[in-house]
Amino acid sequence: MYYDDDADLDLLKGKTVAILGYGSQGHAHARNLKDSGVDVVVGLREGSKSVEHAQAAGLEVTTIEDASSRGDIVMVLLPDEKHHDVYEESIKDGIAPGNLLLFGHGFSIHYGEVEAPPEVDIALVAPKGPGHLVRRQYTEGSGVPALIAIHKNETGNAKDLALAYAKGIGGTRGGVIETTFKDETETDLFGEQAVLCGGVSELVTAGYETLVDAGYDPKMAYFECLHELKLIVDLMYEKGITGMRHSISNTAEYGDLTRGKRIITDQTRQNMKDVLTEIQDGTFAREWIAENRAGQENFQRMRAEGQSNAIETEGKELRSMMAWIDTEFEEG
Ligand code: NDP
Ligand code: MG
Ligand code: MG
Repeated sequence: MYYDDDADLDLLKGKTVAILGYGSQGHAHARNLKDSGVDVVVGLREGSKSVEHAQAAGLEVTTIEDASSRGDIVMVLLPDEKHHDVYEESIKDGIAPGNLLLFGHGFSIHYGEVEAPPEVDIALVAPKGPGHLVRRQYTEGSGVPALIAIHKNETGNAKDLALAYAKGIGGTRGGVIETTFKDETETDLFGEQAVLCGGVSELVTAGYETLVDAGYDPKMAYFECLHELKLIVDLMYEKGITGMRHSISNTAEYGDLTRGKRIITDQTRQNMKDVLTEIQDGTFAREWIAENRAGQENFQRMRAEGQSNAIETEGKELRSMMAWIDTEFEEG
């Protein structure tokens, strides 16, 4: 593990860091680096709605082409599925030998969507958390842990620069692990598909629908299956699964131990293995790339279907009465 003392922010002195994109990760990296004293320029496409947000944060904004050519370090924080086209059209020509091309996730390098020239260093700095937390925890004095990986190190400086960058966004406060593009990409995709996003979304929705279909009050079902999840996950985050079980009632713990395995069955575990295999052999990546080439028709349809689920309309109303819930995420 690497912590603050293992990384040297001075290595970024005299260098320009270009942050391409100002979305979830982009805004957090740009603002954290700036607050860490780093010279940052933000690259955005023509007519981007993000220009005013970045400028309001005191950041210099220019085009993606200009930022790519000015950056000694160029961090690509655009949606993974856009990397190929934007790299070819707007980034490639600006990258000079000896520059460091950085990514927040290994997808486009690992699956061959981006092919950079041989004299360019390539690394990743991937925070293990959503961008809004990368920003919030930095301002609170803590930091989201991060992974670094070095794909190409022609200058010999790529690792020290990646660590310095990780320090600049607060990652070395939480701890940084060095890995490979392959392992970062595959574990990240697996985590979001099987557990963090796909697994949890389906689990919560199925639990909610089971209660509502059985005639229980939808508001109670929402509190039980979605709202309370945060309280349980917070306990797991602070104390592990055993610590969480210590805090819940014995009745809840007995139900957990005896019923949990009927929800996550041997079949579910086999499905997890299959999902992992599709990540490892490139099936998922090919499918997602093809979906984008075809204009995201299925993706947009499924997104809209998810938005119209009963749990979403119910939740929106209930959350509007909870003044303490930070709406920062919904505003983007
Ligand atoms: P977002 O979707 O939040 O970022 C979108 C940004 O990219 C916006 O500034 C948008 O511009 C710009 N953009 C979108 N399409 C184009 C395009 N065609 N041309 C030029 N600019 C474009 O991305 P994320 O922050 O979610 O992801 C960025 C990277 O970080 C990805 O590699 C992702 O895997 C990785 N990552 C993301 C995490 C997360 O928390 N979301 C966690 C860890 C890693 P505009 O403002 O003009 O719309
Ligand atoms: Mg991811
Ligand atoms: Mg209970």
